[in-house]
Amino acid sequence: MNRQAHFRPLTPIMHPWVADITAHADLLRQAIDEYGSPVNIHCLQPFNENLTAFGAVFHEKQLDYRIYFARKANKCLSFAVRSHGLFQGIDTASYRELHQCLIAGIPAEALLCTAAVKTPDLLELAIARGVEVVIDNEDECRLMQAIATRMGRRVTVNIRVGGFTFEGKSLHTRFGWDIREAAVFVTNSIGKGNRFDRLDYSGLHFHLNGYSIAQRGEAILQCLALADRLRGEGFHTATLDIGGGILVNYLQYRDEWDAFNRTLKDAVEGKVPPLTYLNHPLGMTVLDGKALGEPQVYPYYSRVYKEHFLRRILEHRGSSGSTVAEEIRKRKIAMRMEPGRSALDQCGITVARVAFRKTDNRGNLLVGLEMNGTQLRSSSADFLLDPLHIPSAPVAGSTPPEFGFLVGAYCLEQELILKRCVRFLTYPQVGDLMVFVNTAGYLMHFYESEAHQFELAANTFLVSDGKRIIGDSKLANSLRINAATDILGVATQMGIYR
Ligand SMILES: *Cc1c(COP(=O)(O)O)cnc(C)c1O
Repeated sequence: MNRQAHFRPLTPIMHPWVADITAHADLLRQAIDEYGSPVNIHCLQPFNENLTAFGAVFHEKQLDYRIYFARKANKCLSFAVRSHGLFQGIDTASYRELHQCLIAGIPAEALLCTAAVKTPDLLELAIARGVEVVIDNEDECRLMQAIATRMGRRVTVNIRVGGFTFEGKSLHTRFGWDIREAAVFVTNSIGKGNRFDRLDYSGLHFHLNGYSIAQRGEAILQCLALADRLRGEGFHTATLDIGGGILVNYLQYRDEWDAFNRTLKDAVEGKVPPLTYLNHPLGMTVLDGKALGEPQVYPYYSRVYKEHFLRRILEHRGSSGSTVAEEIRKRKIAMRMEPGRSALDQCGITVARVAFRKTDNRGNLLVGLEMNGTQLRSSSADFLLDPLHIPSAPVAGSTPPEFGFLVGAYCLEQELILKRCVRFLTYPQVGDLMVFVNTAGYLMHFYESEAHQFELAANTFLVSDGKRIIGDSKLANSLRINAATDILGVATQMGIYR
């Protein structure tokens, strides 16, 4: 089947370190030889840049702030340690996430606990060390009250709220208190003289699903109204945490994204050859030959992303006519955010080795990778960026590209690394490398499993002017030692890495 005419490229944005390292195939091959396939290679430089860019927006709006990097988006400890090195915080969501950060020497005041389920051991650790906790429900409050009483300690809490009114409807969430009920709960239950008298209220928190700027703007304004009401009752709101969900832009060209989406629909309706394996609709519903709905995929192309997205939230205007930033400034509330994916934009790549080539019974070229599907998976129906094909030997002359599919090591029919058809530079050879760029945020870690007793992929970092690759724990350790011996903290650490 001639796919070439209908293939739609999706060209990824690549940070200079990614362009550099993928031009040095020897370094990638060394990493695979040392750590196995696939290997995740990270770099701290973009992380520095992302946090700095968020900070600059708060600074520009004259707002106090602290950024709490959401650890759950990536397992590497080095990012957490670096966040602290940049004078920012870390949002932890489990006992081990919190414990590892404390062991790494990150002080409690830089940590936040937002776990969706808070076990007694997690709360004991947080309360013993004095880590602020974002609370979700009354049972948590009871447990915290009991633990804090037993330990003779107090605990500072932020109240998670949701159910904001937007365009006349309340936004659904399973988390936290309804914004309309939070004031009564806080005033009647928390602090001295109330049943949860070991808990000290200090702020509000939300994290919204989806990527709407206006919803976040309205949510902030409704939190400020709640803070005003609480102040009237003697509860001071020191901080407002807007969670994560800041959009990332992965793709260079809007035209490619639009063309892919149009052509995918045509393909699923049978008007052009398939763009995906067995014409997978990526979450659209197919009814009577019509593709209905939208693909259930991350919006890989966005015009407003990262720091621009944050700026637009702060510039959102409410019905009073003033901006969100002005309203926050007036009340002298310190802003917090918990970026996961966006803090990790451009921070990691995943490299895998080609194990075999074959043709399936419909004539599709299948390229088997030493890798499994959970090692490149998010909640999106597919990861829609072109992988880079790095041949193991120079490609002779002008061989035509080949089109096919990447399959993985789990013994399932649906075990494809990418559902989308891939363009190879030339007919792939055993030992060639495939590089997936920009995978540090959720793609390489969130759903990774150890089925078939496969080991988890190794996590490494590029250091020393791009010439050396070392393991995450080794780097985290050295960052820690540097931080302890270096009064300026950040300056020396930044110097070592690209
Ligand atoms: C997942 C999550 C985040 C991070 O979200 P991103 O989309 O990765 O930025 C932050 N805060 C909370 C409470 C979360 O659940």
